[in-house]
Amino acid sequence: MTDRVVLATHNPHKVEEFRQIVQATRPDLTVIGYDGPEPVEDGVTFAANALIKARAAAAYTGLPALADDSGICVDVLGGAPGVFSAYWAGHRKDATANLELLLDQLSDIADPHRSAQFVSTIALVMPGGAEHVVEGVWPGRLALAADGSGGFGYDPIFIPDGQSGAERTVGQFSAAEKNAASHRARAFAELGPLLGEL
Ligand code: IMP
Repeated sequence: MTDRVVLATHNPHKVEEFRQIVQATRPDLTVIGYDGPEPVEDGVTFAANALIKARAAAAYTGLPALADDSGICVDVLGGAPGVFSAYWAGHRKDATANLELLLDQLSDIADPHRSAQFVSTIALVMPGGAEHVVEGVWPGRLALAADGSGGFGYDPIFIPDGQSGAERTVGQFSAAEKNAASHRARAFAELGPLLGEL
């Protein structure tokens, strides 16, 4: 049994979400950040990119490594931005510019056709070479305008399905609400049994 796992992400929002979710599954497991060399993320699927990052972290640290690749997939755009979510409005990775561009692109599209999903793919790579990939999908639709200041990235323009009462964007969710329902939480639920075996 190992008690440490390395998380191959530099996004502080994601590190925090992962820590909270791991805490709920394996409170004894210490999540440490990865500070080694950055691999080139040249995969064209979430799974390929998650594996690239997890393999690099496992090789560098000798520890089990977790990495996620995630994004928002809009049906009317054929699944885009997808793996381009972080830099949809250019490589400066400006989250506000990204969501404004997406809203602009869909400005003529009415509610019934604004369906989208957040997708999180998590790779777990063991130092011995065993690899696992799990995926979580959070279905919903794009709002007509941004609302809320919580979370990060596209949260202010994503309205998850299945809400009771007045519908809100994820930007209006508390961190606990988001962590209980998000694509990362859903992927993590799949990963739970594997973490138990670490
Ligand atoms: P990654 O860091 O390469 O996985 O890029 C993921 C990108 O997808 C982020 O920069 C965000 O733009 C978007 N994204 C992924 N997960 C979320 C989320 O939980 N909320 C909002 N945006 C997200």
